[in-house]
Formats: sequence, structure tokens, C-alpha cells
Amino acid sequence: MTLCHACGHRWTAPLVMPVADTCAHCGENATRPDVVWIGEYPYHLEEIANRIETVEIFAAIGSSGQVHPAANFVQEAAA
Ligand SMILES: [Zn+2]
Repeated sequence: MTLCHACGHRWTAPLVMPVADTCAHCGENATRPDVVWIGEYPYHLEEIANRIETVEIFAAIGSSGQVHPAANFVQEAAA
């Protein structure tokens, strides 16, 4: 997905994201991949915390386990 940082509009990401791309909704040049970068909080953090308390199986994929708050997820699930 692609995210407009100016208005929050999301749309299917193109194969190539030119830096000059503008948002089809508001026209701003504030587009970015709709992913969580280092230093940002994961989406749905409260829902994640609630689900970690009840899961029987938890898999952490693509995480170094070094960056908080996601670094705590494995320990919280194990507890
Ligand atoms: Zn926009």
C-alpha cells in the first residue's frame, strides 16, 4: 500500500514509486510506502497487545527484536 502522509489516504502501491508522486486524493507530494519505519509506532498497537495475551502461537518475522515497542512482543507472548 501507499500512504499519503498529508491526508491519510491509502491506495494500492505501484511497482515503482517515483519520488515526485502526488496523492490522487489531495494532490500533495507526501506519498510514502505504507509501512512502519524504525522509530515509528506499529499500527494497531493496542490490538496487538490484547491479542498477544491470548495467542497460543506467535511468530515474529522480519524483526531484529532490538527496536521497541515491537522488541517486547516475543517476550510478552512467551509470558
Ligand atoms: Zn493526500
